[in-house]
Amino acid sequence: MQINDGIYMDYAATTPMKKEVLEAMMPFLEGGFGNPSSFHSFGRDTKKVIDESREIIANAINASQKEIYFTGGGSEADNWAIKGVAFSNRKKGNHIITSKIEHHAVLHTCEYLEKFHGFEVTYLDVDEDGMISLDELKNAIKKETILISIMFANNEIGTVEPIEEIGKIAKENNVLFHTDAVQALGHLEIDVKEMNIDLMSITAHKLYGPKGIGALYIRQGIKLHNLIHGGAQEKRRRAGTENIVGIVGFAKACELAMSDLEESKKRLTTLRDKLMNGILENIPYSKLNGHRTKRLPNNVNISFEFIEGEGILLLLDHVKVAASSGSACTSGSLDPSHVLMAIGLPHEKAHGSLRLTIGDMTKEEDIDFVIEKLPPIIEKLRSMSPLYENVK
Ligand SMILES: *Cc1c(COP(=O)(O)O)cnc(C)c1O
Repeated sequence: MQINDGIYMDYAATTPMKKEVLEAMMPFLEGGFGNPSSFHSFGRDTKKVIDESREIIANAINASQKEIYFTGGGSEADNWAIKGVAFSNRKKGNHIITSKIEHHAVLHTCEYLEKFHGFEVTYLDVDEDGMISLDELKNAIKKETILISIMFANNEIGTVEPIEEIGKIAKENNVLFHTDAVQALGHLEIDVKEMNIDLMSITAHKLYGPKGIGALYIRQGIKLHNLIHGGAQEKRRRAGTENIVGIVGFAKACELAMSDLEESKKRLTTLRDKLMNGILENIPYSKLNGHRTKRLPNNVNISFEFIEGEGILLLLDHVKVAASSGSACTSGSLDPSHVLMAIGLPHEKAHGSLRLTIGDMTKEEDIDFVIEKLPPIIEKLRSMSPLYENVK
């Protein structure tokens, strides 16, 4: 494959692997191949590395290494947490609380439990910034409630939810609390103990690690059914020969992210605000989606009235800027994003939205470039829009 020299602003979709991550993985592609379950030295070598990796990832979130279980990514971790808790708590109750802006790995799992397994799910509304209401959460809890699943930070609009407060409410009511922290890891401080998090999904490829490897943090003592049945790996809780190369890369990515957390947060927040303000100030009929301050340091999501997100993406692609839109047409559905609908955007505004997510490779001149190129792109698309004619 050729090296792409464009400007990448789609870090929320996935991130490139860091050089150090690749270097950490190489020995296990070239030589360290033993099955960790094997008795011989080949197996012992890789087993040791897996344990060390587990420790590094645990430290990043203030968990113990016994509480980290490797999965095939964030989606599997979400599925496991929700189905696992649901199936093992049937006797206690059948009610789950989540929000309308969760990732599909959470939403579709909940819908599956409702449809085929007799569970009842409350999907909490969010306000116009994408925040859940703690009062509504409290009111939704009933004696059948077994699980609250609310994401740490939203992948589309970047809003960061009040995780510590949610954890407190869950604990007071003796309900388990799961959070999808896929977007938060590497960007925000996470302390599973202080935040009373019982289960948490994370994945490597959103923080400069490899794809196809993630983890579920399960607080010690919590029982949940297995999702993947088979061998005795992951302390008999998740079968399948370990993805050693992935695990090593995941740990390296975690280690690098933690050593640079404050620095990168500061750098990205400055760039983010410049991008956000540069667009909002230069383009009329534009509106920020998501909370202005309680948001991921790398996320900008803006709606432009009278036009379609696809058009923006196409013209940005022509000037080699890679972004994402809030309308899901490209992914085969005509409905705009469920997140943008949940924050109350009317269809036409949700369709005209643009997500720019920045990261490690983003330079200030990239921000300047987008601020310069975007206004004529929006103007061009609007000049072709009959809706815009009427307001001019
Ligand atoms: C990317 C993402 C996932 C899915 O993770 P995979 O590792 O791609 O399966 C889940 N939740 C959120 C919030 C995400 O952004």
